[in-house]
Amino acid sequence: MFPDRKLLEKYAELLVRVGANVQPGQIVQLAANVEQHEFAALVTEACYRAGAGKVNLVWESDAMTRLDFLYAEREELGRVLPWEEEKARQMTEDLPCRIFLVSDDPDAMAGIDPDKLSSVTAARRRVLKPYRDAIDGRHQWLIAAAPGEKWAKKCFPEKTGEEALAALWDAVLRAVRVTEDNDPVAEWRAHTEFVEEKATWLNAQGFEALHYESANGTDFTVWLIPDASWEGAASVNAENGARYIPNMPTEEIFTSPQAGRCEGKLVATKPLCWNSQLIEGFSIRFAGGRAVSCSAARGQELLEKIIGMDDCAAMLGEVALVPKESPINRSGLLFYETLFDENACCHCALGAGFKEVLPDGDALTTAEAKERGINDSIIHVDFMIGSEDLSIDGIRPDGSREPVFRNGTWA
Ligand code: ZN
Repeated sequence: MFPDRKLLEKYAELLVRVGANVQPGQIVQLAANVEQHEFAALVTEACYRAGAGKVNLVWESDAMTRLDFLYAEREELGRVLPWEEEKARQMTEDLPCRIFLVSDDPDAMAGIDPDKLSSVTAARRRVLKPYRDAIDGRHQWLIAAAPGEKWAKKCFPEKTGEEALAALWDAVLRAVRVTEDNDPVAEWRAHTEFVEEKATWLNAQGFEALHYESANGTDFTVWLIPDASWEGAASVNAENGARYIPNMPTEEIFTSPQAGRCEGKLVATKPLCWNSQLIEGFSIRFAGGRAVSCSAARGQELLEKIIGMDDCAAMLGEVALVPKESPINRSGLLFYETLFDENACCHCALGAGFKEVLPDGDALTTAEAKERGINDSIIHVDFMIGSEDLSIDGIRPDGSREPVFRNGTWA
């Protein structure tokens, strides 16, 4: 087992106490890859030590999922069986704390018809969405990583399987601030306080727009939604008041900008990996709030396909601020996993926004949120634009400016 057991126990404890913040008597639903049975057992034990009433495991296997998609018909795959629906309904009563351990091989679905993938997802979502909506904001959840060998080989192709796995575990533990001799709980407390302080400051500024500039050619203005808030790090379960951190790692402070209001050019500073394919050395030009042209040294056609995916895929759903000192950026590694890569530096996302950034967001339908400026699309694709010299100014309604970022970090 990588790395040593003590370190993994420390990590499991952090995930359960600080991340999911499992409460006494609470039902926990833990989803883990079959290859992660040893780490899943450590997480389960940490849940029980925290007082969990019962831990229910959901095993996953991306090798099996791939076989399903290769051989089974899409109608069969899209069918939600009565017991699955009943299980989803039961969740609306139990409101379990959900923990997802991500281990996916980034290439697991390479070569699978993207249309089959999206139609199966859409068919299942149609049945299960009402149950998902019913637990929204009323339960704690956490997504964190437990890397497996295939994922590790993707990140470290020059290393042997064992070495690659050790190297990826090391990178993951650094990214979540777990080392042999530190107190990760204290470090996370300081980190979330810092993030919340910055979010509070941004919310108090009342910026109308942000202007981005970098020597690499980025020159871009995006307008914000007046009553939308900047959010980061922790969330609160409205049902029981428990604070939790839905993503570990998390470095970003994000909001959804005004859909359809941005101008200028954004130059990507890291490759974008989409459905196991790479887009590199690219920039996107926006006019009237929509991506109107793009160029890429590699993957141009794919980038155009993403932008044209549906009517609103060309508009932005997220802007996020991450200083260049983030542990993920310092690792210099491309993780091929959004949970990590989007926490490396400042980014924007094409496609769907987050209605929960609006004051009454959870209660709004997608159509109502769209009226208020939150973009809606079948995609949400993050791309990194944080550079060493990135400057961001906040612009107030009276035209006055305030430095937000200088030289790639908080001004
Ligand atoms: Zn983000």
